[in-house]
Amino acid sequence: MKAVASLNSGSSSIKFALFAIEAEQRLHLVAAGKIEKIGIAPTLRARSSDGAILLERDWPNGASLHHQDLLADLFAWADAHPLEQREIVAIGHRIVHGGRTHAAPRIVDAALLDDLEALCPLAPLHQPHNLAAIRAIRDLRPTLTQVACFDTAFHHEMHPLAARLALPRALHDQGIRRYGFHGLSYEYIARRLTEIDPDLAKGRVIAAHLGNGASLCAMKAGCSIDTSMGFTALDGLMMGTRCGTLDPGVVLHLQTQMGMSAAEVEDLLYNRSGLLGVSGLSSDMRTLSISQAPEAEEAMTLYAWRAAREAGALVSALGGLDGIVFTAGIGENDASMRARICKRLEWLGVTIDEEANSKSGPRINGANSSVKVYVIPTDEEVMIARHSLDLVADQVQ
Ligand code: ADP
Repeated sequence: MKAVASLNSGSSSIKFALFAIEAEQRLHLVAAGKIEKIGIAPTLRARSSDGAILLERDWPNGASLHHQDLLADLFAWADAHPLEQREIVAIGHRIVHGGRTHAAPRIVDAALLDDLEALCPLAPLHQPHNLAAIRAIRDLRPTLTQVACFDTAFHHEMHPLAARLALPRALHDQGIRRYGFHGLSYEYIARRLTEIDPDLAKGRVIAAHLGNGASLCAMKAGCSIDTSMGFTALDGLMMGTRCGTLDPGVVLHLQTQMGMSAAEVEDLLYNRSGLLGVSGLSSDMRTLSISQAPEAEEAMTLYAWRAAREAGALVSALGGLDGIVFTAGIGENDASMRARICKRLEWLGVTIDEEANSKSGPRINGANSSVKVYVIPTDEEVMIARHSLDLVADQVQ
């Protein structure tokens, strides 16, 4: 039986999934898991599709273990436990930045790797780790087809004005422009919406991917026309540890008046801001939502304020609004945050059905709402697997 794998390699975690390829190339989840706390005390958990634990490992003294060491361990385990003799025909990777040229998934070769390497400064928190996983697997399985799936690709055709920063033209031509991210998630949501509510899928929708990283995407007929993230994944919404939209004058001030180095500013904006920075407590919404500290409440209020403000901007880009879709960790699970954001969008005619919202819908708008509101769990892994299979389809007849 043949299978396709997907891998999402971040700075401190690697998510993976294995899908069996069934009749008519349908994908069926076999196993999924996560390596976490890389660089501290790594843990590895893999479960079968029915939730049974397949593999559990902890490395309490494994601070020096790198992504490649842990992937080697995972592959060694997979060899020893050939999941019902499945032959992996391709492994797809989530690659945060595809730059100006990569508008669709591609099979990885040396030239592509070089190209993507050059984009690392544009996504310093993610891209190096995405590429490290590709290299590690190339060393472990030199003949395995690897596929790069870009988070920027879904936004490639967004409105030209949405892609342009108000900077001199020459900089735009050099690639200093808005790209947008979370594209694999938005592509999945756009496809699911055609199944769940085909009429709405043809309309004007804001999808809200609210995870540790967070962004909004304005979709018209399932295509991205604008999004809240820009040149990097720092822009737009307030996030777990990232600041979101920021007056560039702050960056200048931190460097010229406060003597911070570029590396210190980068660390501040990527790792010490957002929910963590404002609350002074945690980047994790679950932790904040049970905290009694006024700073936690202020961080959550600001989160909703900023989300609604960005949504307002995207309503303008869309010329109106037919629907909102919440997704990712916070969007899928935090009914209270969904309600807070929707409350701030009441002026658009958005109302929420509290009971439906508390059960995570999927449809959660009130009967009198002029905007449909849904909760749809995202699945970037299956999107990556789907794209990867499409590129090797001729080998899987
Ligand atoms: P990542 O971007 O790392 O994939 P996730 O999509 O898993 O992140 O989202 C992580 C966020 O989701 C965290 O802030 C976490 O607190 C929040 N979250 C997850 N489950 C819940 C829940 N049941 N209630 C509130 N927040 C939740």
